[in-house]
Amino acid sequence: MEKLYLLKIGEIALKGNNRSFFERKLRDNIRAKLKQLPIKISGGHGRYYLSLTNQHENSEYHKQIEWALQTTFGLTGYAVALKCQKDFSIIKESLLAFILEQNLKIDSFKINARRGDKKFEFDSNQINCLLGELILNNFESSYVDIHNPNLVINVEIREECFIYFNSVKTLCGLPVGVAGRGTLMLSGGIDSPVASYMMAKRGLKLDALYFHAYPYTSDEAKQKVIDLAKIVAPYLDGLTLFIVNFTDIQMEIKQHSLSELNTVLMRCCMMEIAHRITTMRENQAIITGEALSQVASQTTYSLRVTSSHTDYPILRPCIGLDKEEIINIAKKIGTYQTSILPFEDCCTLFSPKHPVIKPNFEALKIAYDKLNLETLYNEAIDKAQWLYIDRFGKIKF
Ligand code: ATP
Ligand code: MG
Repeated sequence: MEKLYLLKIGEIALKGNNRSFFERKLRDNIRAKLKQLPIKISGGHGRYYLSLTNQHENSEYHKQIEWALQTTFGLTGYAVALKCQKDFSIIKESLLAFILEQNLKIDSFKINARRGDKKFEFDSNQINCLLGELILNNFESSYVDIHNPNLVINVEIREECFIYFNSVKTLCGLPVGVAGRGTLMLSGGIDSPVASYMMAKRGLKLDALYFHAYPYTSDEAKQKVIDLAKIVAPYLDGLTLFIVNFTDIQMEIKQHSLSELNTVLMRCCMMEIAHRITTMRENQAIITGEALSQVASQTTYSLRVTSSHTDYPILRPCIGLDKEEIINIAKKIGTYQTSILPFEDCCTLFSPKHPVIKPNFEALKIAYDKLNLETLYNEAIDKAQWLYIDRFGKIKF
């Protein structure tokens, strides 16, 4: 029995002239995760097959393939399919053998036949009836339910015949890399790792930028961010993480500004550095985990002030989500447990008790212009530490 994975695409299929660019990227991203394996991706025009070039059963291979398909944006689902000749008696035999091999218990089922090859001896309706009868005769507890079956038996007659059962749903979205690259402001909190996942889902490759305030923030706080980056790395197809020491800038703000303005001024400085790193890396956008009204620095007034430090588009995919929705995504992608570890972020350490909620745009500009930041920015960027985390979540030196 020759088995392969049938790959399903969604939004990519709606693309026009540049569709082949999206499809190529998807294939490349899957292949990159399976470099060590003897695999082949064939097909085209929205229909892809991933197969092992040697058919020896190796459960480790299948684990890795399924991991790759489940962590790569651009696929809507996959199914393990059996490929056989377009001969009806072979189709019947293969279907029964495949059910036994997969150890399927059949109760409610439906046959979903599709005849791509119009020369085939039976049309889809006839295939549905004949194979339905075959199942009813061979599995005692089986019965047909065309509206809500527990098992859908798909039979596609194309250049060969493909048989597969319920498909596994995957992440959807667009392949990472088709939308260029952006700079993610990654803190150790819950929101920004979620934001990274959401923008990677739209095809954006990411660099991450983390500000720490050593020695005021601990090495554990930094390690937590590295760990978060490792968790999201498979979804992001790897990322470069820049770690910038923010202490001197925070001291400058603390010494020369009113304490209630500290938080917004700090955000302005972060945005200013994010802007410069974005230019340096030739990225095209800045991404944050901000959600409207979550805290003082995320009111429309504060966002106007921080946004004025860059003319790159600032993408804030969490902006309209409430905390519970963000937490649900964090749990799904596996970042939540790490995000809630209790290590101080540089912002919380220097935040005033009563930050301004509606900063005055002009007053903030004046307060910002009073600060002596140019040398500090250059130093912070020059001394930034950076590490590359590959698509398997491993640090590459
Ligand atoms: P939380 O889940 O606690 O809200 P958060 O990371 O969203 O975590 P906020 O204080 O809400 O923290 O910060 C808003 C956004 O600003 C973050 O989502 C992140 O994009 C950016 N940010 C905050 N602190 C840092 C930091 N230390 N380094 C890099 N980006 C940061
Ligand atoms: Mg937040």
